[in-house]
Amino acid sequence: KRYSKEDIFRLVEENSVKFIRLQFTDIFGALKNVAITDKQLEKALNNECMFDGASIEGFVRIEESDMYLRPDLDTFIVFPWRPQQGKVARMICDVYRPDGKPFLGDPRNALKKVLKEAEELGYTMNVGPECEFFLFETDNNGQPTIKAQDDAGYFDLGPVDMGENARRDMSLILEDMGFEIEASHHEAAPGQNEIDFKYKDALTTADNIMTFKLVVKAIAQRHGLYASFMPKPIQGINGSGMHINISLNKDGKNAFIDENDELGLSGTAYKFMAGLMKHIKSMAAITNPLINSYKRLVPDYEAPVYIAWSSKNRSPLIRVPAPRGNETRIELRCPDPSANPYLTLACLLKAGLDGIKNNMTVPDSVEKNIFAMTDEEKEKLNIESLPVSLDEALKYMKQSELVKETLGDHIFNNYIKAKEVEIEGYRTQISQWELDNYLRKY
Ligand code: GLU
Ligand code: MG
Ligand code: MG
Repeated sequence: KRYSKEDIFRLVEENSVKFIRLQFTDIFGALKNVAITDKQLEKALNNECMFDGASIEGFVRIEESDMYLRPDLDTFIVFPWRPQQGKVARMICDVYRPDGKPFLGDPRNALKKVLKEAEELGYTMNVGPECEFFLFETDNNGQPTIKAQDDAGYFDLGPVDMGENARRDMSLILEDMGFEIEASHHEAAPGQNEIDFKYKDALTTADNIMTFKLVVKAIAQRHGLYASFMPKPIQGINGSGMHINISLNKDGKNAFIDENDELGLSGTAYKFMAGLMKHIKSMAAITNPLINSYKRLVPDYEAPVYIAWSSKNRSPLIRVPAPRGNETRIELRCPDPSANPYLTLACLLKAGLDGIKNNMTVPDSVEKNIFAMTDEEKEKLNIESLPVSLDEALKYMKQSELVKETLGDHIFNNYIKAKEVEIEGYRTQISQWELDNYLRKY
């Protein structure tokens, strides 16, 4: 533990913080907050701040709607981009019921449950995400367009890359907030950017992803831009992924290392990978939660389509990045940044642990380009595809005991219900594509 209650009072005083935002995340990955003034801090630290759970999508019914926020003191941080007179700070909160029990619809609570299970087996999970996003121009009303502000590509620099000033400010602010920024660059598509921060334990990383998105959006706005984490905003160019780099620690050491193995990976790493591959179809509705997510998972845009792993090539679902030693890890490439990071990490850890507990064996790695294989070749190698739609992903999820156990009945059922509405809403749309292709022809 980093901070005590007294520390928080002191930090608020020392920094002349006026507003404290109490934050939490809903089951669909949207960040929510309520602001209190410093005068109410005592109440907040006594876990007495309340909100109406029924107004948060997928949380609770009206009859049982009072929810309490319990600030996680260690997440206290001052927002460097807000006014320096009457500063704003935030704390991320756990959600509790009036009877003092953790609220089962709180995604952070779901992740904590799986982390505890891992801990009982002696493991902690380290996670490093790679969040990609688009910077779009805004129109005269400040609304986002899908016009990229530049026409730059991978690793380009100014004046072609017009994201560098925004990325610079984002990186500086994130550093101020304690992030260790490893790299930032223009991504492959026009207007597409990536900022990578250092891996941390899973809970910190999930919190960090939420904070990262908030900062990126806030700073983009200052530059007259709109930052979007939508997975595939534009047809015909790369979408945005959120690759997840994972390793497990045991007894203070990286448990994915075995120097005697050909690839330097331990049995634990292979079993973890096997668990991920076994369950990925049932977890896809969590890692790739939108109808739009599946428009990213198509050939030719550096996004995975097939359930396979490789130590080199980037087309499969799981890649083993080159760094070894303490940096030894696996990279899961399907998640996108619209995913709820708490639920995503909870599912991935649970699936990996399932692989370890049941001694699963991973299929052979595939070093050839799967996109160039015929269906027969793929079948011979037993290479399956990721779900092609949210609809398909949801069907797998519904049948998964593992996902149900990970999320708990409350989140599992509410998530499925909401996604079914989303799918039905989309299914009954008449799209421009249909009009273009059918209106005149029939
Ligand atoms: N944007 C690509 C994706 O959708 C990933 C590009 C990369 O390898 O960084 O996953
Ligand atoms: Mg990238
Ligand atoms: Mg990557």
